[in-house]
Amino acid sequence: MSGELQGQPVSRDLRGDEAGDYERLLALYQAERAQREQLEAHVQELQSAQQQLERYATDLQRTHAELRRHLRHMTALHEVSRVISSALDPDEVVRRTVEALAELIVYQVVCIYVLDEREHVAQRAASRGVAGSQPADVVAVGEGPIGQALADASVHLEAAQPRGDAPPALALAIPLRAHGRTLGAIYLERADSDPFAEHELKLMELLAAATAVAMQNALLYRTTRWLATVDPLTEVPNYRYFHETLALEAERARRLRYSLGLLMVDLDRFKRINDLFGHPAGDQVLVAVARAMRAELRRTDVIARVGGEEFAVILPGCGPDAVEAVGEKLRRAVADLPPLAGPGRRRSEITLSVGGAAQGPDEIDPEALLSHADRALYRAKHAGRNRVRVWPEVAVKR
Ligand code: GH3
Ligand code: MG
Ligand code: MG
Repeated sequence: MSGELQGQPVSRDLRGDEAGDYERLLALYQAERAQREQLEAHVQELQSAQQQLERYATDLQRTHAELRRHLRHMTALHEVSRVISSALDPDEVVRRTVEALAELIVYQVVCIYVLDEREHVAQRAASRGVAGSQPADVVAVGEGPIGQALADASVHLEAAQPRGDAPPALALAIPLRAHGRTLGAIYLERADSDPFAEHELKLMELLAAATAVAMQNALLYRTTRWLATVDPLTEVPNYRYFHETLALEAERARRLRYSLGLLMVDLDRFKRINDLFGHPAGDQVLVAVARAMRAELRRTDVIARVGGEEFAVILPGCGPDAVEAVGEKLRRAVADLPPLAGPGRRRSEITLSVGGAAQGPDEIDPEALLSHADRALYRAKHAGRNRVRVWPEVAVKR
């Protein structure tokens, strides 16, 4: 354009311009191509970054779902552990564990086995979802997945024993272990088309740990209570229980307006029995006497060992006549026991003396009742033993 204006030959100038344009175009084209390639590379980078982000998002969603499930499980586990550990009775712990399992995991069968004292066998203490034929009531240690979990204190997962028409199942046995002691096992069955996930196994182990600790505590509580209120030799309540119960029964008799009777029982010449046959034989006599008396009493009567060879019986609702009749029943039951036979011609009858007292609802006073029964017993001894006396000296049997 500038050549035309300056009057220069057009053809030569055009050729020169074309060459210049071509080079410019080429440069432009190359620049564009480079730019496009750059853009394409950039787009690719962006696409792979997007894919990466999408993968991150999926991962995050999965992690989030897992965390939520974990939190849900932990919350449920915390709640059931709290409920289980508040039970003071081992049977209640077992029952609550079975209920908790229904909230925590899908199963077809669940059973809880408790190891017996000699640790040879475990009894089925609770079960749920057991239709038709049931898993065994008693399992020997070492036998099957339950027995193995008991024997080696580790989790066992294997194919379940086929039972009836049920589809093939997986058996999971988890030991209940607390303070280094195996107390039993949790047993679960589930269709083998639905295998246990890793997190479910973990959850079951945590639940088993909570159950075992709760069970151990409940057993300890039961033993402590038992020791605190029961005489270990005769297995009847002890002195402490007797005094607490007498106060309660006195209160109840006053409120509900019935009489309260009391018997004090003392074995005759018991020192001689020990001297002749030895202390262990004397102990066995105490056991036999307690058993014989218990068998004569009602469930509402309370017998207790209140001294070495002394027992007391609370008789709610009994007036003096009934007190005397019950005392006589006890005296006779013990006098009818076979005599003790030792080496040579040593023989000894076992007898006891009984003192009784009763109070009407308006005169209930446990201290006075005790003292009256004691004085009646003193009289029975002094009248020759093996007899019943009732305050204030009502009748003499024999
Ligand atoms: P009484 O007819 O006057 O009651 O005579 P007793 O010998 O039964 O009375 P005493 O109170 O003199 O003796 C009671 C004996 O009971 C003394 C003791 O050796 C014995 N005894 C107390 N507790 C036990 C026990 O747990 N086991 C055994 N084997 N004997 C006991
Ligand atoms: Mg005595
Ligand atoms: Mg005595």
